[in-house]
Amino acid sequence: MGYDHIVIGAGAAGCAVAARLSEDADRRVLLVEAGGHNRRLSVKAPAAFAAQFGTKLDWRYVTEPEEHLDGRRLEHPRGRLMGGCSSMNAMMYVRGSRYDFDQWAAGGATGWSAEEVLPYFVRAEDHADLRDRYHGQGGPIHVQAARDPDPVTLRIIEACEQAGITRRDELNGEHHDGVALTQVNVRRGVRQDTATAYLRDARRRPNLDVLTGALVHRVLLRDGRAVAVELSTRRGGIRRVEAGADVVLSAGAFGTPEILQRSGIGPADHLRSVGIDATVDLPAVGRHLMDHPFQFLNVELRESSPGLFGIEHPRNIARWLGSRRGPLASNIGEAMGFFRTDDALPAADMELVIAPIFFWEHGKGKHVRPAFSIGLSYVAPESRGSVLVRSADPTVKGRVHLNMLSHESEVDAIVRGLRRAREIVAQPALADVRGPEINPGPGVHDDHGLREYIRATVQHTYHPACSARIGSPEDGACDPLLRVHGVDGLRIADASVMPTVTRGNTHAPTIMIGERCADLIRTGGVPARPTGTGVGAAEVAPMP
Ligand SMILES: Cc1cc2nc3c(=O)[nH]c(=O)nc-3n(C[C@H](O)[C@H](O)[C@H](O)COP(=O)(O)OP(=O)(O)OC[C@H]3O[C@@H](n4cnc5c(N)ncnc54)[C@H](O)[C@@H]3O)c2cc1C
Repeated sequence: MGYDHIVIGAGAAGCAVAARLSEDADRRVLLVEAGGHNRRLSVKAPAAFAAQFGTKLDWRYVTEPEEHLDGRRLEHPRGRLMGGCSSMNAMMYVRGSRYDFDQWAAGGATGWSAEEVLPYFVRAEDHADLRDRYHGQGGPIHVQAARDPDPVTLRIIEACEQAGITRRDELNGEHHDGVALTQVNVRRGVRQDTATAYLRDARRRPNLDVLTGALVHRVLLRDGRAVAVELSTRRGGIRRVEAGADVVLSAGAFGTPEILQRSGIGPADHLRSVGIDATVDLPAVGRHLMDHPFQFLNVELRESSPGLFGIEHPRNIARWLGSRRGPLASNIGEAMGFFRTDDALPAADMELVIAPIFFWEHGKGKHVRPAFSIGLSYVAPESRGSVLVRSADPTVKGRVHLNMLSHESEVDAIVRGLRRAREIVAQPALADVRGPEINPGPGVHDDHGLREYIRATVQHTYHPACSARIGSPEDGACDPLLRVHGVDGLRIADASVMPTVTRGNTHAPTIMIGERCADLIRTGGVPARPTGTGVGAAEVAPMP
């Protein structure tokens, strides 16, 4: 059967694109996903997300040795299932700073300013609590403030306030700086990923097919136009599926540049070096990769305030299975904040992720006593890395190089962030619950020691982006209408198109990108006009 549209990758953006396109009954849409279903405890129970790492639900990327991180190779989990990383993430719903989007637009991404993208955030959202011009009701993706936070989380929020960080109701509207309970994609104790949110009803439509267990090899071009997708299914054998209209790449910040490169679209010199014919020379495909460095401060808790210690106890699992309540309903990062490590900065450069539990090494690190964690995600990095295929073989993952902390100024900012986090921990609100510091540890105080600690232990925040970014053909992969340069009928909609990574977690802005891509296709490429204010601002009308 032929389709009008093929959407590659059922992740955060791909589910939004496929669901919105198939709202038009006369469009035949195929959504292709390499992984399988998402009906699993480790997906549904919010606190269990790290149990997916290293399993068949994870693509299991590992970076090249990172020369600025003492040569370490970082594990980089990526969801390989319906919902993609939306089914694996920590459910923090964070849009980023308005400054990010205005910078995108100022840099040439016409139509992507904060006011212009707002209607897409609003339209996507079904917010349980907030009713103002920044929030929507009735959209697919449920958002609410973290429910039943642990008492330790509330103490840490109070400590942030005592340290001078303003307490807010939320950080997705008027204000970005401040501290608040996290807005989460959790409803009645269950994760709300995009596969659930966008496809639950859409999958019943006769004009939408979803093909799981299908690995996309490449997009086939004829006379400069994307006309088909080549893929292999679980049953084996290679299939070609024809597309009459736009093919949309939503395979994520690693998958999308890999598929482009295997299709002969990318840096010609690199493609030739791995035996791929370069059809369209686009040097930016796979370059400019960004992620947020993530640094932890871990502190012991007194036994009387255990936080989420012992969360994996069978009693807690039974409680969640019975009532969808208890510690397993927590998204772990129950509170969060943004602050500036330098008052002269135009926007916050540091995110606080507050967790009433010990979190270290993707959840693999264990501590024998209760503890809490303050994660510092450096949200204004300058380092740029790359994703480059090793061969034309689709079963061989590309070479991911984050090139993290290649700028000394990034380490400076994280040192300032760690010092600020220690100020928070020292506040009276935590006096009767805090124990000794675990990491970096009491012995690590001077600049030299902190810098060594950072390079030896920093992680990424699971936010790869910008690897097929909006930009000119010289420095970008697609134009502001998300059309791949030099190819007709091929668009990109996922985190890879971000011109720079947003100052915050990347799930919400990626859904926004998916919503906008569908709109661009449905309106014939005409950018939408944001409408009005207040409740109902979700309306997006094509420009006359
Ligand atoms: C552990 C973890 C925690 C995170 N926590 C948060 C958080 O709390 N808040 C937040 O905002 N963000 C978080 N993120 C990031 C966020 O989830 C991602 O930025 C977002 O999901 C990216 O969406 P995407 O559409 O670009 O890619 P993805 O969601 O990764 O979707 C890509 C899809 O394409 C499929 N695919 C790839 N290649 C192929 C191929 N060749 N053939 C067929 N299918 C293919 C993949 O299997 C996947 O389903 C987290 C991510 C992880 C991994």
